Amino acid sequence: MTGASKTGRMTLLAVTNPATLEIVGHVPDQGEAEARKAVDRAAAAAGGWRDVAPRERAEMLRRVYENLMLSRDDLVRLITAENGKATADALAEVGYAAEFFRWFAEEAVRTDGSYGTAPAGGVRSVVTARPVGIAALVTPWNFPAAMATRKLAPALAAGCTVVLKPAAETPLTALAIADLVREAGVPGGVVNVVTTTDPATVVGAWLADPRVRKVSFTGSTGVGKVLLHQAADRVLNTSMELGGNAPFVVTEDADLPAAVAGAMVAKFRNGGQACTAANRFLVHRDVAGDFVVRLGAEVEKLSVGAAADGCQIGPLISAAAVSRVRTKVDAAVAAGARITHRAALPDLPGHFYPPTVLTDVPPGADLVREEIFGPVASVLTWSTEADLLAAANDTEYGLAGYVFAGDLQRAIRLGEALDAGMVGINRGLVSDPSAPFGGVKQSGLGREGARDGLREFQETQYLAVDWS
Ligand code: NAD
Repeated sequence: MTGASKTGRMTLLAVTNPATLEIVGHVPDQGEAEARKAVDRAAAAAGGWRDVAPRERAEMLRRVYENLMLSRDDLVRLITAENGKATADALAEVGYAAEFFRWFAEEAVRTDGSYGTAPAGGVRSVVTARPVGIAALVTPWNFPAAMATRKLAPALAAGCTVVLKPAAETPLTALAIADLVREAGVPGGVVNVVTTTDPATVVGAWLADPRVRKVSFTGSTGVGKVLLHQAADRVLNTSMELGGNAPFVVTEDADLPAAVAGAMVAKFRNGGQACTAANRFLVHRDVAGDFVVRLGAEVEKLSVGAAADGCQIGPLISAAAVSRVRTKVDAAVAAGARITHRAALPDLPGHFYPPTVLTDVPPGADLVREEIFGPVASVLTWSTEADLLAAANDTEYGLAGYVFAGDLQRAIRLGEALDAGMVGINRGLVSDPSAPFGGVKQSGLGREGARDGLREFQETQYLAVDWS
């Protein structure tokens, strides 16, 4: 939740805890002028940062990792305050977020290049990877630390300077991370954060600025498309991490307790507000009844509330998010879906929706066609693999998928048949800084993490050296 107010001459953006609705901080609500000044600073720092020796850059990134781990408790307090997620989720997020700096500190000294002879002779080729230039980074509120570090660490490792716009709901964590980056010795001007309630103006100014060469965006597919159109005007290098509609497949020979444990992670981690969240449970009809009973029993035990009270599931980010989830569930129920299990709601003023399990969801319902982004598990059934795969891939998204099957070869075969950038095989979590994170179809372009993440911030240059 955000709001803007004027104090003196500076407009402020209020940051609200979505569990309690208390205001937990204020940051500047900046506009086009500040956006341009951020690029001025990134441009002034670009040459110096590009020329820092890779080892020295790597050591700074390693110190950022250490700073993040040392500040873990403070960051957890900030993340839970502005995002509302459970403390255990915030702790896991900080560990994951910090790991991007450790991983890319190690990658920073291994930037690829090659030296070769042209097949016809007479020419030697020298191929190097160079920083793509000033990068505009735009991040969502659902992982306020990790979505920032997943971009910052590879951008800095590649030698780019950046301008970063966090979501208006969760700017405090990004500002704290920028401070830790500076304290690790990264020069001023390399990372420039702009906070705003007017993302279209700030990001629009960046994409129109000829000094900016790259946009790396994580957020909804709708906004991603707007940015791709704007980026096309200047033929910008783009990376897009967009929405998902992950199928979670359970076969008749799956280990059901393991599948339910995986489902609890894939669906309810972060309160269901994850782009990789399981959106549709596709369970073989012979085991669907048993699966629903076991999953429902776990869901009814979930404690929903405020992080400060030790909850397992926090609120949704806003009243609008609750209303979007409620509309989809109510429409599915009106069309014949059945709510089988629900957790209790807390007595708090925040934006809560109860963790819910539904069966008999019509395949055409928005609940399973669109991203829910909330703690709602819809269970659908299948009886042949052909029907299963047709249903699983019947979506414009292709970010994550999950397969639980007793026969590992069958699980891998089904996983390979899913149109998804990432598939969990007998596990409910795919995110790992050392693995390429990203989607196919309308879930995005490019990959974050792994070696691929560094390539997103590099360009290839080839020198043809006359050797006659
Ligand atoms: P969103 O698209 O509304 O916002 C994301 C970011 O874009 C925010 O910083 C926002 O301020 C900014 N933004 C909004 N409108 C803009 C505009 N017109 N021009 C420029 N910037 C603009 O998404 P959200 O609601 O914050 O996040 C949820 C979405 O993010 C979900 O769809 C989720 O799947 C997706 N997501 C994807 C990944 C991934 O890696 N694929 C990870 C996390 C979240």
